[in-house]
Amino acid sequence: MILDKEVEIKIGSKNKKYYIEKGYDVKLGDSLIVPIEDLYEGSKVKVNVQCQNSLCTSKNKKIQYRHYIVNINANDNHKYYCSNCSNNYNKNKLAKLNQDNKVLVYGDRYYWTFEENRIKEFMKYIEEYKILDNMEKINSRLYNAICRYENGNLAFANKLNLNIEELFQKKKPNNYYDRNYIIDHIKQFIKENSRFPSQQEMGVYRRC
Ligand SMILES: [Zn+2]
Repeated sequence: MILDKEVEIKIGSKNKKYYIEKGYDVKLGDSLIVPIEDLYEGSKVKVNVQCQNSLCTSKNKKIQYRHYIVNINANDNHKYYCSNCSNNYNKNKLAKLNQDNKVLVYGDRYYWTFEENRIKEFMKYIEEYKILDNMEKINSRLYNAICRYENGNLAFANKLNLNIEELFQKKKPNNYYDRNYIIDHIKQFIKENSRFPSQQEMGVYRRC
């Protein structure tokens, strides 16, 4: 999105005809202020732009108008994205395309971002193991994906209207959130992975 309402331009040999045809009375070398809507598409004049990804954290920039046009034309929603967000937009679009064409497979990036894939793998797992206890040890990849996108396997099983009583046979201890219990988990993690769990991995214990 362009933040400026109008901008100063200079008439040169390339844009003179364009502005005359737009009704401006101009000659070579003139400087004038025009509204953004009237800018010549190939204009090198710099405009202040704001990335239209609402989660974007980069600062507003000043870029050439012609680069702005190239940017918005590259996106089918005709919005402006900074280079960082533009990459994400295109990657997500590609992932969606691959998903729709059924070529996004287990192990691919973005695979878990699609709910239908999570359901498919989750149900496959249940069919094979019947219960969800120890899922974190049996299939940590699936477990982590379910933690990340579905807030844990209990929440996901609930969402899918599955029989919780049957799926969780081991009762969680009453002190599940107890400090010592968490410390034991961390110790176990260090034993298995030879490193301290990340904040996210510790969060996994809390949520799932
Ligand atoms: Zn951005």
